[in-house]
Amino acid sequence: MSDENANWARRSDDVIIGTYARYPATMVKGEGCVLTDADGKQYLDCLAGIAVCSLGHCHPAVTDAICAQARELVHVSNLYYTAPQTELAEILTANSFADRVFLANSGAEANEAAIKLARICAGPDRYGVISLAGSFHGRTLATVAATGQPKLHEGFEPMPEGFSHAPFENLNVLEAMITDQTCAIMCEPLQGEGGVRPLEVEYLKALQALCRKHDLLFIVDEIQTGIGRTGTFFAYEQLGIEPDIMTVAKALGNGLPIGAMLTRKELAASLVPGTHGSTFGGNPVAAAAAVATLKVILEDGFLAQVREKGEYLQKGLEELAQRFPHLASGARGMGLIRGLVLTEKGVEQGADMVKKLFARGVLINFAGNTSLRFLPPLIISREEIDQLLTALGEVLAES
Ligand SMILES: *Cc1c(COP(=O)(O)O)cnc(C)c1O
Repeated sequence: MSDENANWARRSDDVIIGTYARYPATMVKGEGCVLTDADGKQYLDCLAGIAVCSLGHCHPAVTDAICAQARELVHVSNLYYTAPQTELAEILTANSFADRVFLANSGAEANEAAIKLARICAGPDRYGVISLAGSFHGRTLATVAATGQPKLHEGFEPMPEGFSHAPFENLNVLEAMITDQTCAIMCEPLQGEGGVRPLEVEYLKALQALCRKHDLLFIVDEIQTGIGRTGTFFAYEQLGIEPDIMTVAKALGNGLPIGAMLTRKELAASLVPGTHGSTFGGNPVAAAAAVATLKVILEDGFLAQVREKGEYLQKGLEELAQRFPHLASGARGMGLIRGLVLTEKGVEQGADMVKKLFARGVLINFAGNTSLRFLPPLIISREEIDQLLTALGEVLAES
């Protein structure tokens, strides 16, 4: 009997540091919404590499762009210009509030750039960034300090100075935290890792108003919500807010590592040569993958489909919550980032439910210790959504 999964897992555990609690599968192939493991078992991927592979696995337009670019030029120093990064920044600025872009390799790096920009713009002695409880902004020291989850700080103290966390949606407490040292407020429009928790539109608008009132920069982390995930190119477009600085990553390269920090040119002017940089940031192959990805996402009708399928998934999840009220209290999210909010009894079984779905060949995860999280490729079909809902119904029935 073949047991390639177990062989690879054993070899991996002998050499890879154990920072991830992994499921017993070694993935070897992906196509559309389907992943195949080393023993040939197939999975409906409703996680998409945590909101990364929005066009599905190995989308032909992206794979072609990667291969074509890899034949021409794989890397050159940022001391020189390249066409893919210029094209990418042109698309991002043409489709957002921003007119300048810094390219990085990951979400955390994009947020590092955002924090550095806020500090350099604010001037000496203004370095404080206020973010929200339950937020997630990355794993580097500065971005984990910005992350409002104390358990992610434990053992790594002291945290870098200048980060504080306001309670979720409590405006008065947040305003009282603003001091002469504060330079920015930072938030996600919807907390992804925090359990698919949307922020109230009125609260987001009030955060922006506080920034204007106290001369602070408004940093919006769209690393998980950006690039079409919520049914518009960026989530902020639906929320009546406009960031001063925005970060994206995850879906930007449909799987190639790339992140970006976007802002207006008046602010960007503070980052002169030598102030910030990255060896790989905006790498030609990653940037070419991103250009190909954005072209598909910005095609006519693509985002409307995301909204429709998002509503369809939401309805299906709400029906399940009604059928299993002892386990689930409701569903929430935007576009195709959705959460089934579990009750106290459901939360106890959240991790087990994910394992049971894995055994049935459906991949999702449990986020923020509150919700089952669904982040399927944006190209998922209704039939595949039905397949997910059926499997989930079976798992809820036996939980
Ligand atoms: C994933 C994520 C990050 C961190 O991105 P990495 O690429 O893992 O560094 C930051 N913010 C949000 C909202 C995220 O979802």
